[in-house]
Amino acid sequence: MSSNIPFAVIDTDVFPASYAVGRQRWLAQLAELTCHLQCLPYQCFGAGPDGEALMTDTVWVGAKDAAKVVVLIGGTHGIEGFTGTAVEIDCLRLIKVGLFVIPADTAILMVHALTPWGYAWQRRCDGDGVDLNRNVIDFSMGLPANPGYTALRSALFLADAQQRKIALAEFEQQYGREALEKAISGGQYNDPSGPFYGGQSAAHGRLVSEDLIRRYALQERDLAVIDLHTGLGSYGYGEIICDHDPDSAGTAVARRWYGDSVTLPLLGTSSSVPKTGLLDFAWHAVMNERSCYITLEFGTFSTDRLFEVLLRDHQIWAERDNREERLEHAVQMRGHFCPDDQAWKEMVLFRARQVFAQALRGISS
Ligand SMILES: [Zn+2]
Repeated sequence: MSSNIPFAVIDTDVFPASYAVGRQRWLAQLAELTCHLQCLPYQCFGAGPDGEALMTDTVWVGAKDAAKVVVLIGGTHGIEGFTGTAVEIDCLRLIKVGLFVIPADTAILMVHALTPWGYAWQRRCDGDGVDLNRNVIDFSMGLPANPGYTALRSALFLADAQQRKIALAEFEQQYGREALEKAISGGQYNDPSGPFYGGQSAAHGRLVSEDLIRRYALQERDLAVIDLHTGLGSYGYGEIICDHDPDSAGTAVARRWYGDSVTLPLLGTSSSVPKTGLLDFAWHAVMNERSCYITLEFGTFSTDRLFEVLLRDHQIWAERDNREERLEHAVQMRGHFCPDDQAWKEMVLFRARQVFAQALRGISS
């Protein structure tokens, strides 16, 4: 087998204009699929800016008793769901026309808009300000501390971007770049209005993930999980980030399936630093030694720009109840997390096909 990447025109129209449009188009794809499927919707508390209901939709494509499952997750971070929708629709189309061939012992589980509130409002977090990717901790053990965040909190909320830059640069000079990134983005549990807040209890997306694991008895199957993200790393490149322990079976499997380009935050080889409470951990807990979980992170602009646009977002939402200002800033957020650039979208879709094909091939080997 020379290559499993389907040769088909890349159509960037699969990137939707909004959460509501994305959901509608994603559901429409399912109507035309012929292989056995089951849909499970999960309603999320709250509503979108136009009063729309917020749903996480999931679909199981293939045999119910499949021993192997490729799981595609979109919108773990709300606004990153634009790309999640695009990638999932593209995969569904290719499955439908037979360019992705799903073996009889394999099923596809797709999760659309795992954090629908953030997708609809164009924010990373959910309606309680929670970053789902910092939420998977054992809350009965008390909340983790992040002294670096506490030290930087007032600087992060400085209105003057130049002053903020100076304060962050001072922290970086004193403690190093990794310490700075960990302080800001590693995860914090005491500031609901701040960025990378892990919450006080299990969030919607975590409950949905745990429910899917239980309902489909996923602990009894081989799993290839691909969690789709955007906003960190080189423009247009989809980095395969593995947060399994470096010496674990999960890392060995990831390297076998996806090759040497797999990066590990724990080894310092990733554009991501090690983080607390990742969604990965809910899945690691049920995975056998033939399974792995990867984050497919599509880069856009610099990490400094990411922090700027995100800190501004948290300031606006924390300090003023101004709908116009919030929606105005949402355009900036969208520009960072899903650039309106044909070339970027083409790179994303091509890379996603490549990684999806690697997962299918890997789990079948
Ligand atoms: Zn993300």
